[in-house]
Amino acid sequence: MHYHQSVHRGRVAVTEVILHCAAIQTGQFDGMSPWQVFSCVNRWHTERGFKHGFGYHGLFMPNGAYFPGRPWDMIGAQTIGHNVGTIGLLLIESQKIDRVGEFSDWFTVAQERSLKAKIGSVPGINKVSGHNDYAPKLCPGFKVKSADWLPAKSPLDRLLSGAVAS
Ligand SMILES: [Zn+2]
Repeated sequence: MHYHQSVHRGRVAVTEVILHCAAIQTGQFDGMSPWQVFSCVNRWHTERGFKHGFGYHGLFMPNGAYFPGRPWDMIGAQTIGHNVGTIGLLLIESQKIDRVGEFSDWFTVAQERSLKAKIGSVPGINKVSGHNDYAPKLCPGFKVKSADWLPAKSPLDRLLSGAVAS
């Protein structure tokens, strides 16, 4: 259990995950391995001038496979003005995102499971948001609600975090 731990970058605690989509055309990544998708996005980010390339902390393929990007303790290049204290995770959509819909319009149950497990494995995360919470963008294609993605707290968790029953 990690009641008093969290990922830190220097003295900054990492407490939030921001979700993204890839803004690709339907089929653009079909048949690619996670490594090939990573390499493609890395090239895009490098061409855009990102000093350290791939700006996210990891990506999720439609089959739920995860491929790591920047280490948790390295700042991302994913959401302008909100890279301090956040982790950026990229979901690879199954079809072109043309509106703010539901998670299931673009992503799979396998991605949902894999993403929840990954978020639950990072100590200290207390908020999950979407790129569209911070910029006028469709990304990630749905409205992200923290409670849908954070691990459910047990009564013991609540006691230890100081919450008082009401
Ligand atoms: Zn985004």
